[in-house]
Amino acid sequence: SPDRVFNFAAGPATLPESVLRKAESELVDWNGSGMSVMEMSHRGKEFLSIIQKAESDLRQLLGIPDEYAVLFLQGGATTQFAAIPLNLCKPGDEVDYVVTGSWGDKAFKEAQKYCKPKVIWTGKSDKYTKIPSFEDLDQNVHAKYLHICANETIHGVEFKNYPTVRNPEGILIADMSSNFCSKPVDVSKFGVIYAGAQKNVGPSGVTIVIIRKDLLGIAQEITPVMLDYKIHADNNSLYNTPPCYGIYMCGLVFDDLLKQGGLKEVEKKNVRKAQLLYDAIDNSNGFYRCPVEKSVRSLMNVPFTLEKSELEAEFVKEAAKEKMVQLKGHRSVGGMRASIYNAMPYAGVEKLVDFMKDFQARHA
Ligand code: PMP
Repeated sequence: SPDRVFNFAAGPATLPESVLRKAESELVDWNGSGMSVMEMSHRGKEFLSIIQKAESDLRQLLGIPDEYAVLFLQGGATTQFAAIPLNLCKPGDEVDYVVTGSWGDKAFKEAQKYCKPKVIWTGKSDKYTKIPSFEDLDQNVHAKYLHICANETIHGVEFKNYPTVRNPEGILIADMSSNFCSKPVDVSKFGVIYAGAQKNVGPSGVTIVIIRKDLLGIAQEITPVMLDYKIHADNNSLYNTPPCYGIYMCGLVFDDLLKQGGLKEVEKKNVRKAQLLYDAIDNSNGFYRCPVEKSVRSLMNVPFTLEKSELEAEFVKEAAKEKMVQLKGHRSVGGMRASIYNAMPYAGVEKLVDFMKDFQARHA
């Protein structure tokens, strides 16, 4: 629709227009029920059919094995920073964190309250532009888990494959908030995957946790009931009132991703978009720069700076006039950032790249 902008926000972020239109068409009367999804009992048959389809579509998309539970929770990914150590560790247990950006750092700091985490690698001195080589990781043989942030939203660094956990009984845990459902993932490599929905799969207010079922039921005594994975798993995410409308929206997105042919197809589109944008940056003779090491550049969040940094505010302002919004980088790093999640069309990236070329021609 001509009223819509190309929204490059990091999250909440752009959603497929077709999904928004479908939600619009069902807003006041869902499927002949005479009610909006917002008005339904979360225990009624209508909502049960919605949450069950959302879960089964997500299972199909990611190929989630039966030994894993899928939970639709609240509190954002930030709540999981505490829920993970509370559910999986005793206070004295040692765990490892690889810190490739601000989100991994926040996860580590929160874990300090509930167990004994150690940062075994940090990219801080390189301003979070790298992923370590896995052989160099000094993993603790006793670590209950190894935590990574699969895609650092602010810095634009993404794991392209995953380390093996050294402790044979340890598990790998990944914060996939900003690359969830952007490409296929072998879920069986992980003990826990978690993601806030508001980047790739829906509105804010829904947090998805995928956890191997044998890890349920060992939470610390002090774990609040709302953070206890076993309680939510035993109750199919209906222990208390879940974020019903958000789950419905995620369900519409999952359905749309399946109709696009699944995550292999989605990944192809994401690679094509990211390539177009990174090439434009790399071929600008230094006018634009992306600080991230090429092999680990994110398909989702593309940070870049201008050689003439005094022009950055002008860049963001002019782009907004052309209906390309939210291109300002995170306040902690400055510069620009284009988030190009699943729902950003190729045409949006094309328009941005054309604008970048034109801006360069006028300001070089
Ligand atoms: N992890 C990552 C990778 C994120 O990008 C974000 C949000 N930007 C968070 C965690 C925190 O998520 P929330 O705001 O849902 O708590």
